[in-house]
Amino acid sequence: MIECDVAIVGAGGAGLFCALEIAKRRKDLNIVVFSEVFPTRSHTGAAQGGINAALANVAKDDSPERHAYDTIKGSDFLADQEAVFRMCELAPKIIYELEHMGTPFSRLENGKIAQRPFGGAGFPRTCYSADKTGHVILQTLYEQCIRHGVKIIYDFLVLDLVKDENKIAGFVGLDLVTGKLWGVKAKAVVLATGGFAKIYWNRSSNCLGNTGDGVAMVLRQGLPVKDTEFVQFHPTGLRRSGILVTEGARGEGGYLINNKGERFMEKYAPSKMELAPRDIVSRAIETEIREGRGFKDEEGYEYVYLDLRHLGRKKILERLSQIRELSIDFEGVDPINEPIPVRPTAHYTMGGIHTDINGKTPLEGLYAIGECACVSVHGANRLGGNSLLDILVFGKLAALDITENTKLKEGNFSSKALAKAEEKLASLFESKDKEENAFKIFKELGNALWNGVGVFREEKSMKEALEKVMELKDKARYLTIKDKSDSYNTELLFSLKLLNALDVAPSIIIPAIERKESRGSHYRLDYPKRDDENFLKHSLITLENGEYKLSWKDVEITRYQPEERKY
Ligand SMILES: Cc1cc2nc3c(=O)[nH]c(=O)nc-3n(C[C@H](O)[C@H](O)[C@H](O)COP(=O)(O)OP(=O)(O)OC[C@H]3O[C@@H](n4cnc5c(N)ncnc54)[C@H](O)[C@@H]3O)c2cc1C
Repeated sequence: MIECDVAIVGAGGAGLFCALEIAKRRKDLNIVVFSEVFPTRSHTGAAQGGINAALANVAKDDSPERHAYDTIKGSDFLADQEAVFRMCELAPKIIYELEHMGTPFSRLENGKIAQRPFGGAGFPRTCYSADKTGHVILQTLYEQCIRHGVKIIYDFLVLDLVKDENKIAGFVGLDLVTGKLWGVKAKAVVLATGGFAKIYWNRSSNCLGNTGDGVAMVLRQGLPVKDTEFVQFHPTGLRRSGILVTEGARGEGGYLINNKGERFMEKYAPSKMELAPRDIVSRAIETEIREGRGFKDEEGYEYVYLDLRHLGRKKILERLSQIRELSIDFEGVDPINEPIPVRPTAHYTMGGIHTDINGKTPLEGLYAIGECACVSVHGANRLGGNSLLDILVFGKLAALDITENTKLKEGNFSSKALAKAEEKLASLFESKDKEENAFKIFKELGNALWNGVGVFREEKSMKEALEKVMELKDKARYLTIKDKSDSYNTELLFSLKLLNALDVAPSIIIPAIERKESRGSHYRLDYPKRDDENFLKHSLITLENGEYKLSWKDVEITRYQPEERKY
């Protein structure tokens, strides 16, 4: 048994910043961060484009209020407005804290932190470090955690939460190095396990780990998840792999081009063009492809072009060097000389574990922060650059709540919890009459989700997708693991991740079927209009006795009344 005061699950930006903020305030607390991967390999490190804050370094009229308004409008009015204001007001402070810790931001001529334009934003507001912003933030936070003595246990997969009636008691996890199961007792548990967009498989920009483990664990405890039907499709994933080409490429002036050589965004968002919000640009690309104005290669991949050639060699090398490398390595295309073939890719999950503004879930002592949580500040569509901000702001607020407001209490850790986990693993290794393979099922899951709850949705295809997912859940009972080794058993790891993805998938489809309107990233061909009268509401999903139950919750509208979202 491992014992601690605060156990943080996840070593991305959210988990590390929360740990750091607690460690700086309370030397008496024993804080341990647990992570499936080495901290700096968390998906935060893949963030390219930047982080939003109204510093007004480039546009002097910018302000936290304007940032909040853009975020609320971008969310298609589904975000809770006081939470958005809190985030935008704290944003400049967070950037200066990062700067003072040593984050190497790109600079303007006058030495101030540089800011670039990003989709849906009224002013250039996105602070960046070339096209490696997440990488430099994560490295900085990791160094600071080491400096402040935060303990980090990595190569450790958390399997399931353990509760004591209405209080968290800890969790059970698997040491991936030895194959040994551990009980972890903690007075407070903070889930920071990241998003679940990888469950769309190779139509995703996310890393392999982003299967929504935290969301699945919370569902299995009968706790609610919120707005899970809202999945953001980033307009520009590389044609074959879904790997991301940052919005910064359009922020720097890149064009989207169809097979007629037209800058087709003119038809869809004449004022913002390529810098309209992501849902609008993704639908525009998919419409061009559907209506025969896209390209198709000999392998059957369909795409449009992102053209950066007019930016010139110097700018591309200086500001978009990683994009250039990715395009060369994964598409064989050098953007200095050729346009990049792109198509929308599942990128970000607006929904997640239902929490209040301090990251608290309805279970005492259990918090959720970062992409796995839904506060909500992104509503039906997140603006680029707002997630790196969200993970830090709410990582901080959860840390403040834990250190200042909460009396940490121990829960009783039932010995049955370990036995249950042991049984789960034993049944996966059991091979009698079983021959299903996790990789095959995962691929089928990705296809079902892309076809049912992709960029365009309608009742028939969503119902088919739900049926398929339920069929795959059933198939997964016959999963068997051929590799019997204890150490770094990747087949076991992958199977456990698949089981989480399968628990999460229905929570995307069920509210998507019932939300009979189009809002933000949720676009229905059969209900193409937003319907505020019936659906200006958050969806909540719980899993009770194997059944997914849907309910609705009011949106907090305190400052801006919903209006039509035009760009
Ligand atoms: C390619 C890409 C580019 C992006 N670019 C931007 C951008 O420019 N600006 C922006 O604002 N946002 C961007 N985003 C979104 C943003 O990066 C993420 O939303 C954010 O970094 C998520 O941070 P996190 O700390 O919540 O989770 P992550 O960084 O995903 O970390 C999750 C952590 O949880 C751990 N974990 C998961 N499951 C388990 C388990 N079962 N047991 C133990 N540990 C577990 C992992 O090991 C990892 O440490 C981008 C996302 C992608 C995919």
